[in-house]
Amino acid sequence: MKRIVLTGFRGTGKTEIGRILAAQHRVVFLDTDSLIEQQTGRSIPDIFHEDGEERFRTIERDVIAGLPPADAVISTGGGAVVDPVNMAHLRRDSTVVLLTTDLDAIEQRIARSPRPPLTNLPLREEIAEMLDRRRQNYRASADLCVDTSGTTPATAAVIINDRIDKGVPTPSARKEGVAFFRGGRLAAPALRRLEEVLASPPSDPLTRLLGVAGYPALHSRGPRLFNALFAEYGINCHYTFFEDPVIGRIMDLARSLDVKGLSVTIPFKQDVMALVDEVDEAARNIGAVNTVVFACGSATGYNTDWLGVRKPLVSLKGSKAVLLGAGGVASAAAFALVDLDMDVTILNRTPEKAKELAARTGCRWAAWDTFDQIHPDLVVNATPLGMEPDTRSPLREEQVYPDLTVFDLVYTPPVTPLIEMALGRGCRTIQGTEMFIEQAKEQFWLFFGIDVPSETIRKYLS
Ligand code: NAP
Repeated sequence: MKRIVLTGFRGTGKTEIGRILAAQHRVVFLDTDSLIEQQTGRSIPDIFHEDGEERFRTIERDVIAGLPPADAVISTGGGAVVDPVNMAHLRRDSTVVLLTTDLDAIEQRIARSPRPPLTNLPLREEIAEMLDRRRQNYRASADLCVDTSGTTPATAAVIINDRIDKGVPTPSARKEGVAFFRGGRLAAPALRRLEEVLASPPSDPLTRLLGVAGYPALHSRGPRLFNALFAEYGINCHYTFFEDPVIGRIMDLARSLDVKGLSVTIPFKQDVMALVDEVDEAARNIGAVNTVVFACGSATGYNTDWLGVRKPLVSLKGSKAVLLGAGGVASAAAFALVDLDMDVTILNRTPEKAKELAARTGCRWAAWDTFDQIHPDLVVNATPLGMEPDTRSPLREEQVYPDLTVFDLVYTPPVTPLIEMALGRGCRTIQGTEMFIEQAKEQFWLFFGIDVPSETIRKYLS
C-alpha cells in the first residue's frame, strides 16, 4: 500500500479518520503532533509557550523527515503543509488527502481544544485568517479533496477508500479523454502513455494528469521537465500536451479528468481568465494567466511569468530600464520591473500599445527610435525578434554598451543575435531560459507546494 497522508486545518477530522483508515488497511497510524509530544516529552501548548512557534516548526520538520516511507496512514499538523521541505517528504510515493470543513464546523470542533492560538485574533477570525493564508498550500497538497463538514469520520473514510480504489474521473470522462488525445497530433509513445493513464478501469486510479494548454503546444518543453521532476520527487502524476484551438474544450476536459494543473501558453493566456473560478491579484493586474491550479472542485488562475522575469533581476533593483515590446509577456515583465522599483520606459513598434501598457503599469513610454536618448542600465527584450522567422536583433550593435545588462526573453535559440551582440560588447547578459526556469519553479510550487532548486530545473532542460 502507498502511504496515505491526511492534511487540513485543525478540526477537519484528520486524527479520527486516520485511525479508521489505518485499521481498515491494517497499517500503523501516525499522528505528527503526537510524535512531537512523544519525542520531546512535552505537550504542544508547552512547546509553543516555552520555545515559540518557530522551534515547534523545526521539530515538526524533523519528525516529518523521519516518517516511514510506506505502509502507514499519517495525520499531519494543520500548518505542516506551509513548509516546502515537509511537502517534498509528505508527497513522496504517497496519496495526500486534503480534508476540508466549513468554518462553523471547525469553530465548533476546536472551541474547547487546549491548542495554542497562532494569532491574537478571536478564534473564529483566527480560523478564517489561517485558512485564507494557507489556502494555496492546502490545495497544492491535495491529491484527493474530501469535505468532512456534514459527515461522520466513518463516512469520510468510506469516501476516501472509494476514491483511492476508483479514482475521481468517471469511465465516460476517461473515454472522452482518450478520444481527445487520439484526435490530436501526439507522437505514438506519448499517446500510449495517456491511454494507459486514462484506461478504464484504470491500472492506477490515482495517477493525476497535468499539462500545457496551447495551440500549438507540441513545441513545449513542459512535459520533459515536469515528468522528470515527478520521477525525482516520487509524485504520481503525468504531464502532457493539451493542444486544441479552443481553450474552453481544454478546460472542460481538464475539469472532467480531474487534472491537477495546467501551464497556459499562446494564444490562451487572456481567454482562460474567463474560464477559471478565481484569478489571483498579480494575474489580474497583469491581465494574463499562465498557470491554472484545480483543487476541491475549483480552478484558480495565476501568473508566474512575472516572477520568472523578476528573479534574475533582483540585484538590479532601482535601475533605469527599457522594455522592448508591449504584448502579453511585456505586460508581465513591466509588472516585475516596477515591483523592483525600476524607472521603466516601454518602447514598442506600435506606440499606442506602449502608451496603454505604460498607463496600466505606471511606466513611461516613448517612440522606438528614442532608445539612444535614454541610456538605461538594463534592456529587456519582450518582442519575438531574434527567433524564427524574424531572427534580427531588436537593437543595433552601437546601441549596446558594456555597462548595459541585456535580458532577452526569447529562448529559442538560447543565444539569440541580441545576446551574442551583447556578449561581444562585454555586457552582462541573461538568457530567456532563465525566465522559463524561474516561472516553471513557481508553477511547480503552485501545483505541489514543493520548492525545486533552479539548478534541478536547469539540469532537466539541458
Ligand atoms: P505578443 O503578445 O504577440 O507580443 C509581441 C510584442 O512584440 C508586441 O509588442 C509586438 O509589437 C512586438 N513585435 C512583434 N514583432 C515585432 C517586430 N518584427 N519588430 C518589433 N516588434 C515586434 O507576444 P508575447 O506573448 O508577449 O511573446 C513575446 C516573446 O516572448 C515570444 O516571442 C517569446 O520568444 C518570448 N517568451 C519567452 C518566455 C520565457 O519563458 N522566456 C515565455 C513566453 C514568451 P506590436 O504591438 O507592434 O505588434
